[in-house]
Amino acid sequence: MTIYPSTSSCRTHHIDSNGDPVYQQRFKWVLPYHDPGLAPVENSEGSYHVTTVGKPAYDVKFDRTFGYYQGFAAVQKGQVWFHIDTQGNRIYQENWDWCGNFQGGFCVVRLNNRMFHIRPDGTIMNENGWTYAGDFREDSAVVRDDFGLCGHIDINGQYLHDQKFIELGVFHKSFAIAKDQSGWHHIDQLGQPLYPFRFENLEPFYNGIAKAVTISGVHVLIDENGNISPLLGQLNSINKELISLPLPILEENVKEKEKQLREQMMFVTRHMYKMGYNYTIDGNISHRLSEDKILVSPTGQHLGFICPEDFVIMDKEGNLIDGERKPTSEWRLHNRIYSMRPDIQCVIHAHPPSAIAASVANVDLGKVFSHYSPIPTTDFALNCTEDTAKVLEPYIKTQNWAILKRHGVVTWADSLSNAFLRLEGLEQSARIVTKANAIAEIQPMPESDVQKLFKMWGLDFDSYGTGV
Ligand SMILES: [Zn+2]
Repeated sequence: MTIYPSTSSCRTHHIDSNGDPVYQQRFKWVLPYHDPGLAPVENSEGSYHVTTVGKPAYDVKFDRTFGYYQGFAAVQKGQVWFHIDTQGNRIYQENWDWCGNFQGGFCVVRLNNRMFHIRPDGTIMNENGWTYAGDFREDSAVVRDDFGLCGHIDINGQYLHDQKFIELGVFHKSFAIAKDQSGWHHIDQLGQPLYPFRFENLEPFYNGIAKAVTISGVHVLIDENGNISPLLGQLNSINKELISLPLPILEENVKEKEKQLREQMMFVTRHMYKMGYNYTIDGNISHRLSEDKILVSPTGQHLGFICPEDFVIMDKEGNLIDGERKPTSEWRLHNRIYSMRPDIQCVIHAHPPSAIAASVANVDLGKVFSHYSPIPTTDFALNCTEDTAKVLEPYIKTQNWAILKRHGVVTWADSLSNAFLRLEGLEQSARIVTKANAIAEIQPMPESDVQKLFKMWGLDFDSYGTGV
């Protein structure tokens, strides 16, 4: 007999395939039955599991219960989460801030903003944990490291292959979807691409065929050999040239991406001027085009009046590759971030007045205002020299923004919009702090509160340099 949950009355219960109640009780809510025939429910006493006749499976009550997976169910009691067996007994003594379901012999848990895989005895697979960990499937799981890069690990916690990606899917019939700096593609179990193309969007293979969207927005199908065909129903409506676009995709993608980026970067840089983040020829912006090519604003340019064609392309050493003008004189700053952070796509350097004022007044924003993660201030360095990149270096791997002492700010992110959001957020917190300073002398947050904040942001308080 198949049993379904019903929400047809105000107190819910389970019904059979004929729509008849399978027991007389009514609950606050119920979830579906899982093997071994137990379902989570809640009534006024708390949350627990019931058998197929609506009887409690055990005597204990929890604040929340979830379905049984591989014989264990996740439950919440007070602030802590853990797993129970079918008798309602804890299967290990550890507590978590959150936990998922057992899949493939492991379960993802969260503790102090780190994610881990645990075994049914509560032991942790990788002691350091991850910034993200996904469920095991086909004996591997996706994890994200401290630099924001994703890889696959095996059931021993070892990397399955050496390749790292910006985004990554779990293996499905030996193939996974992966996103690198050029776009989405499918990889095999060695982390190698199945074909040389990249897409704007991509789905896993189902029956050997996957849906994909090219960088120019055409919906296509791709098979495991890299053969591309238009989606059914679009056969007559798609221009043949558009279909052929994904074929030489790496080169074509970069060209199309460059065109779009020039326009988006113009929009953002002009907006930065309107917001008062840059005046005269101050500030610069860059975006990764490919692994070793960077699109960057030119030196001596008023950012409020920049045009798409003003941006130039430089290599990792700051050499001009394409364009009429010279790259920004702060190119070292940009290149240092790209070389140390493969996940970073965009770098913005600006001179927002409140942030600079805070650094001139020796105020550490991260220790005064709680809304954003700590904002480090670098040591002083001469503008447009190697020194500027050097003083920023200690913060590049662990942070995504910094104030250059008595000079300006730098933000870096996985996208143009996120780099701009950080710039805006940084200047906003500086504005609040400088306003507070005009009312009365600023009171730094008590160190214990700052330490709590650092913990929340997953940062090590002792190794965090203030620079002020
Ligand atoms: Zn500057």
